[in-house]
Amino acid sequence: MNNVPEIAGVLFDIDDTLVDLETAMGRTLHQVGADTLAHLSDADWIEYKRLYAHDPLGWYDRFLAGELTFTEQRLHRARHAQAAFVEEPLEGAAARRWNTAYEATLPLHFEPYDDVIPLLDTLDAAKVPYGAVSNNVHDYQRAKLDRSGLQRFAVLVGIDTVGVAKPDPAIYLEGARQLGTRPERTLYVGDNRLVDAESASAAGLIGVWLDRRSAGPADFSGHRITSLADVLQFLPNVR
Ligand SMILES: [Mg+2]
Repeated sequence: MNNVPEIAGVLFDIDDTLVDLETAMGRTLHQVGADTLAHLSDADWIEYKRLYAHDPLGWYDRFLAGELTFTEQRLHRARHAQAAFVEEPLEGAAARRWNTAYEATLPLHFEPYDDVIPLLDTLDAAKVPYGAVSNNVHDYQRAKLDRSGLQRFAVLVGIDTVGVAKPDPAIYLEGARQLGTRPERTLYVGDNRLVDAESASAAGLIGVWLDRRSAGPADFSGHRITSLADVLQFLPNVR
């Protein structure tokens, strides 16, 4: 890999980078909506899950801005996704029941992508430190990593660790600080081109965009990989 200094450590985003959150959300929505959404066609289900997971109205950003609780943003997303398919709005006791069921079901579906464990095994063997920097609170993400079989992450920085979220430079820099690596020698790998790759680079790390679907624009000028196995391209001395 040209133009990249020797890498001393690797930081990862969690959701849809290490843990397949979109699949877990989709399975959870199916289970939780089995009764009220039984009339949906396969195409409807795809659209419903897309609306929920991709959050086009940006409710999650309002959680990050401190304007909504985690539960409130989740219910807003569910309401918006359901509005196209269900007459009865998701409110009151029905909303509370839905949220309780969702919260209990989602963690049962947390799983790492297939390329996570092999990479971490290689990094461990080579004694390359790694950690996670995520746009959710530390304890929720710790439980998610544990549930996904990723207890081995010693470093985990959440939005409550330094009081800011991505794309604020401080959160990436705290990850490097906890790893004990210089930012300019630290990779930051994530599935979001903007808040992972570009903003980590703006903070002084080496941002890498994980474009799992190879869907990104061909003219993206930063570092792009399509599988976590490709992280090793940046570590030529690690086998
Ligand atoms: Mg992500």
